[in-house]
Amino acid sequence: MKEAVAADLAAAYHSSVVDDVRKNGFVRQSGRLTIHLAQEFGFCYGVDRAVDYAYQTRKRFPDRRVFLTGEIIHNPHVNDELRRQQIRILTDPGEDRRTLGPDDVVILPAFGVSVGDLASLEKQGCTLVDTTCGSVLNVWKNVVRYAQDGFTAVIHGKVKHEETRATASQALKYPEGRYVIVLDRSEAAVVCDYIRNGGDREAFLARFAGAVSPGFNPDVDLVRVGCANQTTMLMSESLEIGEMVGAAMRDRYPNDDMASHFRAFDTICSATQERQDAVEALLDAEPIDLMIVVGGYNSSNTVNLARICASRVRTYHIAEPGCLLSAGQIRHRPVGAPSTVRAEEVVTEGWLPPTGRVVVGLTAGASTPNNIVGQVIETVERFASA
Ligand code: SF4
Repeated sequence: MKEAVAADLAAAYHSSVVDDVRKNGFVRQSGRLTIHLAQEFGFCYGVDRAVDYAYQTRKRFPDRRVFLTGEIIHNPHVNDELRRQQIRILTDPGEDRRTLGPDDVVILPAFGVSVGDLASLEKQGCTLVDTTCGSVLNVWKNVVRYAQDGFTAVIHGKVKHEETRATASQALKYPEGRYVIVLDRSEAAVVCDYIRNGGDREAFLARFAGAVSPGFNPDVDLVRVGCANQTTMLMSESLEIGEMVGAAMRDRYPNDDMASHFRAFDTICSATQERQDAVEALLDAEPIDLMIVVGGYNSSNTVNLARICASRVRTYHIAEPGCLLSAGQIRHRPVGAPSTVRAEEVVTEGWLPPTGRVVVGLTAGASTPNNIVGQVIETVERFASA
């Protein structure tokens, strides 16, 4: 039913402003303001498809209750649009997944659901519409293979992120399956230290409480490991963690065939990589005064785009155009803040130089639709010309 929903999708998410900027070589000039848009930004192929399927599902089953297991993507605007179409989100207050039955339709989001959740929905007899992205399925394939071969999956990801929870659950499909989730280099360094030197097992388990498979024993479960990652992590960090773990294994087992202790696959998705590469290219090519990164505060790939930008130039991560409060004030999430949703927003004064030429760089996470990007462009223009 792709054609049947094309007009609705265009009405909800298209932006003629963004189209113009693209046509104009990703640059927009107005008065003293120049905006450079990264050449890859916004909706990725997985999100595009998931949102499309959600609209098609609503059209295909007009008389049935339609649910999402959770937010389809980490963008408040898109989730609200779906709620408006009477697509209910099971994690919303008042929803109860125990009421689901064979007459209900449930959409699985782009980042997938855990093995346990899928089994429950199947048992309840719901009609399932699976929008799990192919790049996530690719990670799962590797994690399952690790489990089959008795390798523990070391997953670079966020413990509470739906995708990482779903990926970790794949390891438990086999009795030998184990996992440990590391958030960043410093957590990977703790794992590497244990691989090299062993240590206090209880302290390790306390450190990684909630981030290891049931019954995890670092003394035996860190002898054979394979790396994987949440698809939206910072690529450079994922690669570095893979190298760190590989080096620890070589130190610990210098005389062994490494293939029997360590495996790694690059499971960052191409869309994430392209967006990260594009923003680096933009910052290399242009003298940018400030960067604006648009996307949900709980969107992992957006947070990582903001980290890249902030390491090079003054950067504001905003969730929506309304965060641009005035020419003087911007509401934003400080880059590097913990990943809760709104609590940590701050208001900063003087984000836009009041006079003189100003060059603004702009990018958006994979869950940000073009209409939001277009509104940000128009709002910055309005304030710069005031
Ligand atoms: S960010 Fe990558 S893995 Fe996630 S939905 Fe988009 S394309 Fe798929």
